[in-house]
Amino acid sequence: MHDQNNENIFDNEYTKKLWADCLTILQDRVNNQSYKTWFEPIIPLQIEKNKLSIKVPSQFFSDWLEEHYYSLINEALTQVTGREIVVDHIITSEERESSLLSIDFDSTQANLGKLPAGPLSIKSSVPELLTKVSTIKISQPSINHSINPRYTFDNYIKGESNQFARAAALAVANNPGGTSFNPLVIYGGVGLGKTHLVHAIGNHLLSSGKTNRILYVSSEKFTIDFVEAIQKDRVADFSNYYRSVDLLVVDDIQFFAGKEKTQDMFFHTFNALYHLGKQIVLSSDKPPKELKSVNERLISRFQWGLTADIQPPDLETRIAILQKKSSDDGIDLSHNVVEFIASNITSNIRELESCLIGLLARASLENRDIDLELAKSVVRSIIGEVRSHVTIEEIQRVVAEYMMIPEDLLRAKTRKQEVVNARQIAMYLAKELTNSSLKTIGLHFGGRDHSTVIHAYQCVEDSMGLDQKQKSLVQQLRSKLERNIS
Ligand code: ADP
Ligand code: MG
Repeated sequence: MHDQNNENIFDNEYTKKLWADCLTILQDRVNNQSYKTWFEPIIPLQIEKNKLSIKVPSQFFSDWLEEHYYSLINEALTQVTGREIVVDHIITSEERESSLLSIDFDSTQANLGKLPAGPLSIKSSVPELLTKVSTIKISQPSINHSINPRYTFDNYIKGESNQFARAAALAVANNPGGTSFNPLVIYGGVGLGKTHLVHAIGNHLLSSGKTNRILYVSSEKFTIDFVEAIQKDRVADFSNYYRSVDLLVVDDIQFFAGKEKTQDMFFHTFNALYHLGKQIVLSSDKPPKELKSVNERLISRFQWGLTADIQPPDLETRIAILQKKSSDDGIDLSHNVVEFIASNITSNIRELESCLIGLLARASLENRDIDLELAKSVVRSIIGEVRSHVTIEEIQRVVAEYMMIPEDLLRAKTRKQEVVNARQIAMYLAKELTNSSLKTIGLHFGGRDHSTVIHAYQCVEDSMGLDQKQKSLVQQLRSKLERNIS
């Protein structure tokens, strides 16, 4: 045994070897999927006395281990060492990332000590304070950027739904303050990737080495810090801090609603940065002009630059995201599982992620493979019931409505091109999504026979292969039908 200075602290080599022995034991005790998911990512750090510290990828991971595998690991440790060793301290890779901005008031405090006393009191109005602060040279405070390294452009999947916002974000990241996209406002629904994208700008800029004077805050954080600054009579520090960055990202500006003083402060911060040519990036759950209880003059500022939206991802993007995320996690998902999840979880990327976590968790807990049955059960727990039956009537209704064609024409004899296409698509979907026989399908379409249905099916399949528009039309209809889950 290899002792370090303290006879009870063992060095890395020893810890690594011991952990490798443990893994051999653990590998025999759990199934392969669980082993790969929950044990391979563990990094042993050190053993001190009878305690082993480890590092794992996330808090979720840590909780899971604690709940399900602690005793197993401890047994293995005891078996390998012949004495009782327990897993003690778990640190997560996220810990580094999660420490949110804490304003480094103290570093500016020293400088402030040299300022004339008195005028920087909270009794002065905000604009007045800003002018005072700007006329007094204060060395730049150090910035805790709070950019999450996990959210990059590299792992942001491109799709039609986010293409524009992503391109704008990239342009800004390459040339902060130097495009007409100032401010860049990214808006879209919950879980569609706004936060990811704004962090990606920060990461891109950090890795370019151009500047590290970058600051990410949520609008709540901005508000809390501002209130605290008022309470502690440190508004000038606050203002100086926010004005000293090259890129300011404020996430979820809809939460500024109704907070007049904070909006006022933000307005002046915005102006100061804007006039210095610094980049401002904002995210919101709706377009700026629809923000309620936000001051008009602020809203008009938000519209000075570029507003880009992120839409819910289409089926192909959802599939791409699932494939990427599962392969990053080392999970092998069959194509039908991926397609099933992507067809049912349609409106939110965060839910796609929860689904993957749920699949992993259930597969490990129940010691089973990830198959369609498990996927159905996990999806059901996220979105409620999964559609088991779509009816032909429903397909006709949805297709007719979507393609703006009177529904009864689908069953009539008309051979007008757009009606024929809609009818064929409806037949195609009926064959794909219901268990009805070709004969039954034909009967629902004005008593046509089964060969007409086969022909329709073929035509649609061929045209999807040739025509991207047709393909995405059919996919949209399909996901619409699959989404109308009762
Ligand atoms: P929002 O801020 O719009 O609510 P987030 O940025 O927090 O959404 O995204 C939710 C989750 O989905 C995050 O884990 C994010 O990494 C992931 N995500 C969103 N869009 C994409 C994308 N295009 N590619 C890969 N992951 C994405
Ligand atoms: Mg967000």
